[in-house]
Amino acid sequence: MELYIHIPFCRRKCRYCSFTSFTGQEAYFQRYVDLIVQEARIRRNEISGPLSSVYIGGGTPSLLPPELLSRLIAGLRDVLTLDAVTEFTAEANPGTVAPEWLDTAASLGINRLSFGMQAYQENLLNLLGRIHRFRDVSSSVSLARRSGIRNISLDLIFGIPTQNMDDWRQTVDAALSLSPFHLSAYGLIPEEGTPLTRDLSEGKLSLPDPDEEREMYTFVKKRTCEAGFRQYEISSFALDGYECKHNIGYWTQVPYLGLGVSAASMTCVSFGTDGMSCLRSVNPCTIRAYEDLIAKGSFPAGSEHISPPEARFETMMLGLRMNRGVSEIDFYTRHRLSLDQCYGKKLREMEKRGLVLHENGFWKLTSRGFDIQNSILVDLMES
Ligand code: SF4
Repeated sequence: MELYIHIPFCRRKCRYCSFTSFTGQEAYFQRYVDLIVQEARIRRNEISGPLSSVYIGGGTPSLLPPELLSRLIAGLRDVLTLDAVTEFTAEANPGTVAPEWLDTAASLGINRLSFGMQAYQENLLNLLGRIHRFRDVSSSVSLARRSGIRNISLDLIFGIPTQNMDDWRQTVDAALSLSPFHLSAYGLIPEEGTPLTRDLSEGKLSLPDPDEEREMYTFVKKRTCEAGFRQYEISSFALDGYECKHNIGYWTQVPYLGLGVSAASMTCVSFGTDGMSCLRSVNPCTIRAYEDLIAKGSFPAGSEHISPPEARFETMMLGLRMNRGVSEIDFYTRHRLSLDQCYGKKLREMEKRGLVLHENGFWKLTSRGFDIQNSILVDLMES
């Protein structure tokens, strides 16, 4: 089982961001931390088996002052057993990280940091509305290492309006120059309701040409491979042994408990005669509704039952994101049905078209298949 904690606060809202995060709430931080611990206390009986990873995401977890980070983790340790946790990640914004925060994080057992670097060039960082510069990323990474946290991941974005191939090459190389153990590279998705999307729809900005965006993706795959990284998921690259366990857990349907505003959970996994079914729930997206829910103690909130056929499709959808693909043995263990029985006919047709590969008990996408992943999934959904 895995644990996710959402810290929905940011210093400033980035222009492309659709995550649940609020600005100007510093006076509320302590109350929020106490609510998370209260939620953990209420929901601890939803945890089945030992917690293997913890991920503090946001928002900007590094905005919590060190004493509140300590209060949060000490509170969680009082309520939950974290002894089996091997990967403990916190997201950090390079514009908010101070040495004391990093020392505190390390002393509390956080052993992996994910920094949102996004781009190297100041003009692109401004366009995205980021509060940091590349020099902040560089100094945050050095300070993190000095605090004893060596496992560093950097997030990058490609396909930003006005970004060209030279910008992207420079961004990837600058990221690699900091010797991270993990890189994530995401294509920019214009989310509804964001200022960036408004600028795009009003014609004030335009996205790079799709061919150029594909070239950017191809470049990061090649460049990270040359630097000794292995791509293990559509957007994720890691040195051997530093793949993100928490994310792999998510892609392989390990149950997770999400605490905090807008956090999602997948719990109560049960195995009936027709295989696995589970309960997914999402906490409210506003602080007030979250407070009300805690006061009532009525968890899980907004829950949705995932039926065995839906759970089988999710196994394919999430598993095919990863380079290793979907394991036939895991599929059977999870669903009490063979993968061949559910999707074999479709997959063999796709194999003939060079879209998927069947190797050593795994079904995986080829690079052509990765390019049209969505239509492959639609096809599988209809089978
Ligand atoms: S720092 Fe992250 S969560 Fe906060 S506004 Fe920017 S993209 Fe959104």
